[in-house]
Amino acid sequence: MFERFGLDTRLLRAIADCGYVTPTPIQEQALPPVLEGKDVLGLAQTGTGKTAVFALPILQRLLQGPRQVIRALVLAPTRELALQIDADFRSLGRHTPVKTTTIFGGVGKVPQLTRLRQGVEVVVACPGRLLDHLGQGAIDLSRVEVLVLDEADRMCDMGFLPDIRRILAKVPAQRQTLFFSATMPEEINQLSRDILHQPVRVAVAADRPACTVAHALYPVPHHLKTRFLLTLLQHTPTAQVLVFTRTKYRARRLAAVLERAGYRSAALQGNMSQNARQKSLLGFRTNEVDILVATDIAARGLDISDISHVINFDMPATVEDYTHRIGRTGRAEAEGEAYTLITDDDLPLVQRIEQLLGEKLNRRTFPDFDYKASPEGAARDVDARDKTDRGPYGQRSPRQRPALEQAKQSHPVGLPTSSRVQRPLQDFLRPKATAPGSRQPRPQRRGPRGGRG
Ligand code: AMP
Repeated sequence: MFERFGLDTRLLRAIADCGYVTPTPIQEQALPPVLEGKDVLGLAQTGTGKTAVFALPILQRLLQGPRQVIRALVLAPTRELALQIDADFRSLGRHTPVKTTTIFGGVGKVPQLTRLRQGVEVVVACPGRLLDHLGQGAIDLSRVEVLVLDEADRMCDMGFLPDIRRILAKVPAQRQTLFFSATMPEEINQLSRDILHQPVRVAVAADRPACTVAHALYPVPHHLKTRFLLTLLQHTPTAQVLVFTRTKYRARRLAAVLERAGYRSAALQGNMSQNARQKSLLGFRTNEVDILVATDIAARGLDISDISHVINFDMPATVEDYTHRIGRTGRAEAEGEAYTLITDDDLPLVQRIEQLLGEKLNRRTFPDFDYKASPEGAARDVDARDKTDRGPYGQRSPRQRPALEQAKQSHPVGLPTSSRVQRPLQDFLRPKATAPGSRQPRPQRRGPRGGRG
């Protein structure tokens, strides 16, 4: 099926090695114009197969012409996405001599410079570090033939727009430009108008979440969110779960809470070292971690498939973010569920999401969950920054103990079926006993540190 695009046999072999049999819709639409050298504006989310839309034509082009000069530059918002794109180039280019490298912050510059000096044809970079290298004269973009902007809307959200414009000034005006964005806010529209030359537009389910996703909203008071999530997880059969929080701090804390509750969980947030992030991701991909708690930016663009549930512990900031998060489940016709914990403050955004979906979302409740528990009785939530040492969850009154059996019968989702350790709720609501001589829990840090997602 890929034969008809006229790709080199070395690429066709790699495509077969990767197990791709039929092109995805965006590949169908966009590969021909990209291979012809046209500019393309692609409205598509990650998970649609868009990386191959630019990687295959770039590899095809680089089979001819000079070696060891940078001829293709891909800009991506996050290190994780850059690494993933680089990995895709390596897979698809495995039978070719084309060399690629990544450039992003948070790791040493020297290995990046060494690799650049050794000679590469493709650079996949995050804008900030790339500008550093450019400023030091360490990288020459004067022979770039193809420029790709991936997840342009997210780069814009992250404040990279000025950086991108400075980088654009360093690449030849005569080039092919491929521009991908899941959404088209005005700023992005303007940028695309400025840099694309008579682009071919392709759009694949850009704004609507996958229709195989079942959405449900769980109204819950802010201070009971952690407790509620534990109840939800305990009564829901899940496989891989991706939980989103609003801040890095909350991702870190919630992952720790879940771990303590017996779930195999990990955090993915921007304050973590590159190594720690990779470890979390690898754990999730290899099923050693069942629940990944992430911030939007850290998880942006990652191809994490086979997710049964996306849970918005905190409502996202925008409708677009909701779409992105939900795009992680229900991919490729698989069924997924998207749960969102909502507070009264979230109602305006809920309305906008419902408008986008064209339907009113299901509101669900647990009849036996004590929605009226007071902040004091409800114990310390991820958001509560109480420094007294009552244990992580404080004390619960008998009234708050969920009647688990009743809940099992009344909740529509059903019983847990996963083999994951399931401890009774009261076990982890009890303060953890600290053995003599063992370490005391450290006081919680207040709020997230600065920096990006
Ligand atoms: P992307 O949107 O580029 O991140 O791709 C999402 C996932 O789809 C990646 O795991 C790709 O390896 C995979 N993929 C891309 N193209 C195809 C295809 N034609 N058939 C099957 N899987 C694909």
